[in-house]
Amino acid sequence: MNRISHWIDGRVVEGSSGRSGVVFDPATGEQQASVDFASVDDVDRAVAVAKAAFPAWRATNLSRRAEVMFRMRELVDANRKEIASLLSKEHGKVLGDALGEVARGLENIEFACGIPNLLKGGYSEQASTGVDVYSIKQPLGVVAGITPFNFPAMVPMWMFANALACGNTFVLKPSEKDPSASMFIAELLKQAGLPDGTFNVVHGDKVAVDRLLEHPDIQAISFVGSTPIARYIYETGTKNGKRVQALGGAKNHMMVLADADLDMAADAAVSAAYGSAGERCMAISVVLASDAIADDLVSKIKDRIPAIKVGPASEDGNEMGPLITGEHRDKVKGYVAGAEAEGATLVVDGRDGAPTGGFFLKPSLIDNAKPGMKCYDDEIFGPVLTVTRISGYQEGIDLINANQFGNGTAIFTRDGGAARQFEFDVQVGMVGVNVPIPVPVSYYSFGGWKASLFGDTHMYGPEGVNFYTRTKVVTKRWPDPSTSTVDLGFPQNR
Ligand code: NAD
Repeated sequence: MNRISHWIDGRVVEGSSGRSGVVFDPATGEQQASVDFASVDDVDRAVAVAKAAFPAWRATNLSRRAEVMFRMRELVDANRKEIASLLSKEHGKVLGDALGEVARGLENIEFACGIPNLLKGGYSEQASTGVDVYSIKQPLGVVAGITPFNFPAMVPMWMFANALACGNTFVLKPSEKDPSASMFIAELLKQAGLPDGTFNVVHGDKVAVDRLLEHPDIQAISFVGSTPIARYIYETGTKNGKRVQALGGAKNHMMVLADADLDMAADAAVSAAYGSAGERCMAISVVLASDAIADDLVSKIKDRIPAIKVGPASEDGNEMGPLITGEHRDKVKGYVAGAEAEGATLVVDGRDGAPTGGFFLKPSLIDNAKPGMKCYDDEIFGPVLTVTRISGYQEGIDLINANQFGNGTAIFTRDGGAARQFEFDVQVGMVGVNVPIPVPVSYYSFGGWKASLFGDTHMYGPEGVNFYTRTKVVTKRWPDPSTSTVDLGFPQNR
């Protein structure tokens, strides 16, 4: 049985806790590896080497740090297929989807290659007579990332690219469900010339996370995962004096107005709801269909579902793989099973005809879902699309704004005025206009509102650079005897 251990100080280190987790092959349902769960001592060891590596890495000049990122960019580019196949093997997503994940993660490394430009401060000459004022951005020290199962390569890249380029050292605690991509990334960073100890990986569960949350040498924590854990990470981390950004769950609504191109809307809804088996925080899980076109739209979505090829990533042509675990698959099934009793209409039942042997489920479509029903209220995180019928724009926007989550949303319309009003009104962090999955490119920043993000800073892009640095402002003058005097008053501009 393959054993996955930690990565500390530039090499694989076996865990000391004696505890481990099961890594399944979701396409067969069989165990394919075990992963060491870190003890408090394992975490302390990783933090200690990261702390020891910080002074030298922080002092490494900007060109050298950028050079490491450029080399990492080349290595990830050259190893796209290897990384993607690790993702398919442990997460289950099909190869094309996995390659997309690598490409979107790579963008963040490319962004970090521009770190010399991104870390420029401001300068004000002659703020007072003979006095200049300027700001500098400095790294925080040891920072940690805690990541979810659904993007085992991209989400770590959202974090470590900027964190390292800014001069921090890093401890990653990836999802225990699909831990191999982070180990491969660690090897690539070493090959790229990153000094040992600068990037470390500890695997595990709450024990490892809690130690990171309380460790006095961790300065900041980036988290991506479900809302209850995000809230816990934010509350505990900030209580312990750390800077925290904690991204949580989602329930992304796509509003389709009566004037929309219905074929385009149906294609988009199907792609965004069922891609990656719905295990994306930016997946569309609710279509808000205007009454005038709702029957047509539901029928167009229904017509597209049978063509979706569900099966293992290892077989060419499949478009949707299994869910991450049997437990999660059964939970998702429960929402489908309960929908009709709640008063919704089950149009397509994905429990029928799924491939056997792994954690498969076919796409489900539920019509007439409403607030108060579990299938509408909860984040299902599976291949289940619900439709809620609306009288028009106002009812749709009210539903979106009343939702506890505010990660992503989209409007489908040909009416520019309605789209502009939507951008203005909607209380959601990432908005698509005729674009169903509006994940921002790496030179913007990613993050939702409300229960989809705890903290003040969105992830990656310019806000990522701000998160991983702190600003120092220097007020400076050079000795000039003619301006020197004793003055006990509060300093003023002269
Ligand atoms: P999760 O919250 O179960 O786990 C995320 C991380 O937290 C993992 O590393 C896990 O080991 C750790 N963790 C789990 N339980 C913990 C506990 N009790 N105490 C401390 N740490 C704990 O999330 P997941 O199932 O891996 O990922 C799916 C969730 O992530 C979905 O809710 C999805 O919407 C969300 N997600 C959000 C975004 C975003 O950008 N907002 C992106 C991807 C995924």
